[in-house]
Amino acid sequence: MTARAACVLCPNPSPMTLDGTNTWVVAEPGSTEAVVIDPGPLDEGHLARVVSEVEQADRRVVLTLLTHGHLDHAESAERFHELTGAPVRAFGRGHDDVAPGEVIRVGGLEIVAVATPGHTSDSYSYLLPAETALLTGDTILGRGTTVVAWPDGHLESYLESLHRIEAMTRTGDVARILPGHGPYVADAAAAATYYLAHRAERLNQVRAALAAGDRTAREVVERVYADVPRNVWGAAEMSVQAQLEYLRRQPS
Ligand SMILES: [Zn+2]
Repeated sequence: MTARAACVLCPNPSPMTLDGTNTWVVAEPGSTEAVVIDPGPLDEGHLARVVSEVEQADRRVVLTLLTHGHLDHAESAERFHELTGAPVRAFGRGHDDVAPGEVIRVGGLEIVAVATPGHTSDSYSYLLPAETALLTGDTILGRGTTVVAWPDGHLESYLESLHRIEAMTRTGDVARILPGHGPYVADAAAAATYYLAHRAERLNQVRAALAAGDRTAREVVERVYADVPRNVWGAAEMSVQAQLEYLRRQPS
């Protein structure tokens, strides 16, 4: 995908996971050490393919990072540790947590941990400065938009995270996005701007739905999310709950 990042697609497609979970293998060219980001759900065939991809490049996995704890990204973490012996790091696990701005160095590759809560409270993105590429997990997807997984997810922090990513595109630190689902994003700035505009638009629609008399999250979903397939209405309802909470907290 880039000189330092390769994607192994897990065969778990669904309305929520798009084509499936992207497991990212990152390594410095010429190095024998690799980092795996999001080994994915507990799918032995997929894990074997990830290990094989690393071994075929004459490397071994020395570290696994998680973007967040959702099962489609993290369920296999313990099993992947058994397979590789490599430690697993993430935020919010209570041991060896990654920290905001922490620089992780593996075999000459630099990875910067960027706190991007909102989709979930434990969401982190990982920056590859040498590629100006940000691995965003579910914070920004390769296609469509993501869900704020209320009550753990939080719209205010999600908007702050999008602003943080947008700021990194303005300073030139981030040019492209390697998402947790969907295709590679060549224009990170456009994606961040689109996500912020989409959130603002949805908030306006929710405000209008409340003004029109909707009271429950379900009523708001039926009005505001009429354009999205019904099989993601459950997820939309979580996002609406997050938006209702956000609006309640805004000074009127
Ligand atoms: Zn997720």
